[in-house]
Amino acid sequence: MVVKLDTSPLQEWRGYTGKPFLISGPCSAETEEQVMETAKQLARLNKVNVFRSGIWKPRTRPNSFEGIGVDGLKWLKNVKQETGLLVGTEVASERHVYEALKYGIDLLWIGARTSVNPFTVQEISNALNGVDVMVLVKNPINPDLELWIGAIERIAKAGIKRLGAIHRGFSAYEKTSYRNQPNWQLPIELRRRIPDLPLICDPSHIAGSREYIHEISQKALDLNYDGLMIESHIDPDNALSDAQQQLTPNDLKELLSRLILRSPSTSDPKLLDVLGELRQQIDVFDDHLIDLIEQRMKVAETIGYYKKENNITILQSMRWDEIVKRVMVKGKAKGLSQELIDIIFKAIHQESINHQMKIMNNGIVKE
Ligand code: PEP
Ligand code: MN
Repeated sequence: MVVKLDTSPLQEWRGYTGKPFLISGPCSAETEEQVMETAKQLARLNKVNVFRSGIWKPRTRPNSFEGIGVDGLKWLKNVKQETGLLVGTEVASERHVYEALKYGIDLLWIGARTSVNPFTVQEISNALNGVDVMVLVKNPINPDLELWIGAIERIAKAGIKRLGAIHRGFSAYEKTSYRNQPNWQLPIELRRRIPDLPLICDPSHIAGSREYIHEISQKALDLNYDGLMIESHIDPDNALSDAQQQLTPNDLKELLSRLILRSPSTSDPKLLDVLGELRQQIDVFDDHLIDLIEQRMKVAETIGYYKKENNITILQSMRWDEIVKRVMVKGKAKGLSQELIDIIFKAIHQESINHQMKIMNNGIVKE
C-alpha cells in the first residue's frame, strides 16, 4: 500500500523552483579549492538550484577514493555562505544524516546502493524523523519499482514533506553504450502511481560518459521530469571518481542552452480538439488490439486441445522460431523496432502458453 503523501508542500516546491530544478556539482568533494571553485562557476550560470557533492562515496572496489568525509561538509557550508546556493550530499547511514544536518545541509539524497536495503533506509528514516529537509530517493540499482516505492514510503513516514525521487538508471549484465539502463517505463510507472512526487533525472549516472548527457536530459524533459542532477567538476579528467561523466561548468552552460523546454499541457481549445480526435483513434486501435489478441488466444486454445489429445508438448521450438523470424521481418518492413516486436511477441507467446497450460491441465495450473 502506497503511503498517502501530503502533496501540497511538494507542489509548492515544484512551483517555486521553476523548471528544470537543477542540481549540479562534483561527484566527490576532493579539495576545498575544487569544491569552492566549481560552486562559484556554477553559481554564475544562474541556473543551478542546489550544489551537490559526495562526501562519503560508495565505491565498487576497495582502495578507490572513498570520499573526504566530514571535512567536506565544512566546505559545503562555506559554499552556501559564499554563493547562496543550496547544498546537498548523499547519506547512507544514520551517522551521515546526523553529521549532514549538523552542518546545515539542505538536501540529502539516498544513493542507489542504499535504497536497495530496507534496513538502512529505515535507519535513515528514523534519523530524519521530524526534520524539515529535502530528501531525494535514488532508484535502487536493480529495476524493482516496489523497492523504490518502499524506500520512498519509509522516508515519507518520517514526516519528510519535500520529498522526491531521482532516476539514475539500473545495472545490467549486458554491456551497452550507457553505464546504466534507463528503463524509462519504471519512472513512468512511478509517476503514474505517485503523480505528485517530484521526479528528477540523473543523466550523468545513466550515461557514464559526457557524450550522452544531453540526449538523456532532453528525453527526461520531454517526459515531463521536474529536474536534472548533472555532475560537474572544474577539471573532470582528473576527478577522483566518475571522471568520464563529469562536465565543466562551462560545458554544463552550453548543454543547458541546447535543452528545449516544452509545456506539460495546453489550454489552446483548437489544439485540444485535434488531440482529442486523434486520441479517440488511438482508443479504437487499442480496442482492436485487445480484440485481435483475444481471437488469437482462442485459436491457440484450439491448438491446445489438439496437443492435449495427441499428447504433444506445448512448446514447439521450431514453430516459435519460425514465428519470431517472420514477425521480425514484417515488423522491420513496417518501421517498428526489433525491440518492440521482441517484447510484444514474447508476451503474446507466453500468454498463449498459459492458455494452453490451463487446457492441458484441466484449468488447474496457476498463471
Ligand atoms: C552519486 O550521485 O555520485 C552516486 C554515487 O550515485 P548513485 O547512487 O546513483 O550511484
Ligand atoms: Mn558519481
